[in-house]
Amino acid sequence: MAFTKLLIASNNQHKITEFRRLFGHLPFDLVAPQDISLSLDVEEVGDTFEANASLKAHAFAKASGLMSLADDSGIEVDALNGAPGVRSARYGGEGLDDEDRVQLLLHEMTSVQESQRTCRYRVVLALVDMDGPKETREASTEGRCEGQIAYEPSGSNGFGYDPIFFLPHYGKTIAEIRSDQKDEISHRGKAARWMAEILASRTD
Ligand code: IMP
Repeated sequence: MAFTKLLIASNNQHKITEFRRLFGHLPFDLVAPQDISLSLDVEEVGDTFEANASLKAHAFAKASGLMSLADDSGIEVDALNGAPGVRSARYGGEGLDDEDRVQLLLHEMTSVQESQRTCRYRVVLALVDMDGPKETREASTEGRCEGQIAYEPSGSNGFGYDPIFFLPHYGKTIAEIRSDQKDEISHRGKAARWMAEILASRTD
C-alpha cells in the first residue's frame, strides 16, 4: 500500500533532516520541495511564529496539492527583549550567514552577565491538509527549549545558533550533544512529538 505524501514545507536542509528523523517512523511518504521539483520561497511577513508557520504551510499545500507541514522557529533572548525572535533567520540583515549571526548576537551580549543570559528556542509547526474535513484542515503544535547564551561558540553539530545555545543540564551547547539527544529536548522535537500524534490519528 502506498503511503500518503507529506510535504516538508521548508527549503532549510537542516530542518528537513531533523523532520525526516522525527517523523520517519510514521506511515507517511515524507517529501521535500526538491523531491517534487517545487521551488517556492514564502516571505515571512507575520509577526508571530504561528502566523508565519501557517502562511508557509498554506502556500506549500496550495502549490503542491499535498498535505504540508511547515515550521517557523527562532531564538528569543531575554536580555534583548525577546530578539531576534521571529527575525532569527534574518538577524543582522541580508548577506550574513549563520556564523555571522552568532558573532553579532555574542557582540550584543558582551556586557550581559551570566545570570541574565537566558534564552529559548521556540517553534510552531503548522499542518495543512486541504483534502481533509473542514474542521481538521489545519492543526498546529508548539515546542520550547530553554537555555543560556554561551560566551563563545562551541561544537559543530546542528545549525544556526546551536554553537552558542548552552544547556546547563548537559554543561554543553546544543552543537556539542548528539542529534538524538537534541531531538529529545529540543523545541522541534517536542512540537514534532505532539504533531506525530495528530498525524498518527489521521491514519487510524
Ligand atoms: P525560520 O523558521 O525559517 O524563520 O528560521 C528560524 C531561524 O532560527 C533559523 O534559521 C535558525 O537561525 C534559528 N533556529 C531555529 N531553530 C533552530 C535550531 O534548532 N538550531 C539552531 N538555530 C535554530
